[in-house]
Amino acid sequence: MITLNKIQEVLNDTRRENVEELAREAARITRQNFGRTIGLYAPLYLSNYCSSHCTYCGFHALNKIKRIKLTPDEMRREMAPIHGQGIRNILMLTGESYKHTPIEYLKDAARIAGDLFQGIALEVHPMQTQEYKELFAAGVDGITVYQETYDRRRYADVHLSGYKKDYDFRYDTPRRAAEGGMRQIAMGILLGLSETAPDLLALYEHLRNMERSYPGVEYGISFPRLRTIKEKEFVRCDVDDTAFIKIICLTRILFPRVGINLSTREAPQLRNNLLELGITRMSAGSNTAVGGYSLLDKDEQDPQFDIKDDRSVADVVALLKKRNFDPVFTDWRRIENAA
Ligand code: SF4
Repeated sequence: MITLNKIQEVLNDTRRENVEELAREAARITRQNFGRTIGLYAPLYLSNYCSSHCTYCGFHALNKIKRIKLTPDEMRREMAPIHGQGIRNILMLTGESYKHTPIEYLKDAARIAGDLFQGIALEVHPMQTQEYKELFAAGVDGITVYQETYDRRRYADVHLSGYKKDYDFRYDTPRRAAEGGMRQIAMGILLGLSETAPDLLALYEHLRNMERSYPGVEYGISFPRLRTIKEKEFVRCDVDDTAFIKIICLTRILFPRVGINLSTREAPQLRNNLLELGITRMSAGSNTAVGGYSLLDKDEQDPQFDIKDDRSVADVVALLKKRNFDPVFTDWRRIENAA
């Protein structure tokens, strides 16, 4: 396993030839394992109710925003424009509220999404193994859960109240999701929240342990960077674009077959460049507010964070084709087991 010193060395090394060599190696490994394909997905925010207080998030319990939870009919209305743009993989998100978005609500959302989408992933509050089994039976095939930071002290500093304060329960979530039968699990850290090198090392170790214990799962990894919310800085992000590119490349070299996801938090030019280096999935045409696709006007929306790439799905597809990539909307389809 790579050492902390080595990660630090890579992050500190700004010599152009070394960064280019790192990028070339990451690009070669990516093409070898994934060809020229990029999976596309879109997020759908179901609810912004949250009982936790994380200092970096616009949905936190004390933030005075309009709280909304989509009804089944509203879910359908929000899903229609996403589906209409061609997207077939959906990531449904909520704030962390066991009370407002209980498992029955999430199961209903999964069943509704199942009419339109082939891949259904959730980024919601951590749950027990049995609940993941129930969600899988309802059509959910992927879970996204970021530890945010692996530094326990920093974790305690930024998670002020609510269930998310429980570091160990969150850490153990990928294991419970795997035990619950989830096909895809995405892990990650929130870059800029804590020291990058130790967080990266801890994430790599966590992922390696998961790969060893549950080799049948398809793993993904994401590196969201801290973003402003309605132009307000909650915490400073000190991970610049060059560091971000190096993190993607290093991760690709260490994990040749793990998917790397990229959200619309990043600017179009950077997203375009990262396509060549290690990214395998990206969101497109995204909105990070509940009701943002069809129910609310822009000035009524309270996003979880501000996006930087507001290109439509058609724009992203056109770009991918121009760059000689194949946009992938569906690479997995659930079949009912007759037995
Ligand atoms: S990060 Fe999640 S748990 Fe924390 S405030 Fe935001 S929605 Fe709530």
